[in-house]
Amino acid sequence: MKKLLVLTALCVAVFAKKTFEGNQVLRITAKDEAQISLLKELSEQEHLELDFWREPIHESLPVDVHVPFHSLQDVRAFLGNNQIQYDVMIMDVQDLLDDEEREMVKYRSSPKSTDDFVYTAYHNLTEIYSFINMLVAENRKLVSKIVIGRSYKKRPLNVLKFSTGANRPGIWIDTGIHSREWVTQASGTWFAKKIVKDYKRDPVLTDILNNYDIFLEIVTNPDGFAYTHKKNRMWRKTRRSNPGSRCVGVDPNRNWDAGFGGEGSSDNPCSETYRGPTANSESEVKAIVDFVKSHGKLKAFVSIHSYSQMLLYPYGYTHTPAKDNDELNKLAEKTVSALQSLYNTQYRFGSIINTIYQASGGTIDWTYNQGIKYSYTFELRDTGRYGFLLPANQIVPTAEETWLALMTIMKHTRKNPY
Ligand SMILES: [Zn+2]
Repeated sequence: MKKLLVLTALCVAVFAKKTFEGNQVLRITAKDEAQISLLKELSEQEHLELDFWREPIHESLPVDVHVPFHSLQDVRAFLGNNQIQYDVMIMDVQDLLDDEEREMVKYRSSPKSTDDFVYTAYHNLTEIYSFINMLVAENRKLVSKIVIGRSYKKRPLNVLKFSTGANRPGIWIDTGIHSREWVTQASGTWFAKKIVKDYKRDPVLTDILNNYDIFLEIVTNPDGFAYTHKKNRMWRKTRRSNPGSRCVGVDPNRNWDAGFGGEGSSDNPCSETYRGPTANSESEVKAIVDFVKSHGKLKAFVSIHSYSQMLLYPYGYTHTPAKDNDELNKLAEKTVSALQSLYNTQYRFGSIINTIYQASGGTIDWTYNQGIKYSYTFELRDTGRYGFLLPANQIVPTAEETWLALMTIMKHTRKNPY
């Protein structure tokens, strides 16, 4: 009997979904470089199991950290003893997750068409993949699905291709390369429907689609995404197993062959920014690399993350400005003002290294070095009130305002062929 109990406990531990009762998210405001150094020391204490949603980099940027219940006392004491200011942003992480789950269950249905799909709710991988198939079936003349590769766990990497003619240059958009950034995959789904609705209705989009193909990868990290639904809502990385380590996964936004291995990425498999053993080691990354190279004519590349409300352009791995820095900066300014025009959501913009921090091996540094001039990364809503746990009622407003931004970039690309 005792053996059975132990076995049952083990099974629960292995198969159950991770819970976050009593966990909090703290916003820490360091006042100087010394306090930033202290926070870096804190982040290295592995037994605390802290998850830095925004890392300590510089005193001008707030630090957001998800603290497990068992570490709260230690962390509060550390901050108090060092007179570091903080606020509680999320009082109980599990409460938010319970709300999120309730909402999802409420809208879990099997829509008969993409018109019935509930865009105001979060959906799991199966639901999004079936959405993709429905959209293709409903719009065969405009939309097709291409499988650009397989994930580590052999899931298909599906890309929607919107095309009205052969041999066109292309515009790429991806969402969800970091799996826990759920508002991005949800926005990607909304964008896909928006494109089919607006083609032949909105003259600007119609003109773009009469000259360019649009490629949209909604679930860029499907293994991670499935894992966020089944096991751990806070999962960011891929699901590769790392030989010699108990920790799983690679940060797919540090795995590209642009300054790979440099500052702003980690060689520790337990880190959230673990770069992986080699550049392109992640099949999710390699599939896009192969696609970009074989296509050869992508003219804009937009990779969408959350959160922080920022629009970023290269570089992240070096202080040397991109040769198109002035144009990228001007277009970014125009883009964030289009975004702001709808709901007054304010974005910061600039190069990655000047706006957030040094990060090497990132997506758009690589695409830019491949000659794709209009390479941008978004960090969608919000600025930290909910962080990665953005309530579902913000999905559609987020997607709508971001669409205005995407249209600005696509229109500029169309008007400035190169
Ligand atoms: Zn991200």
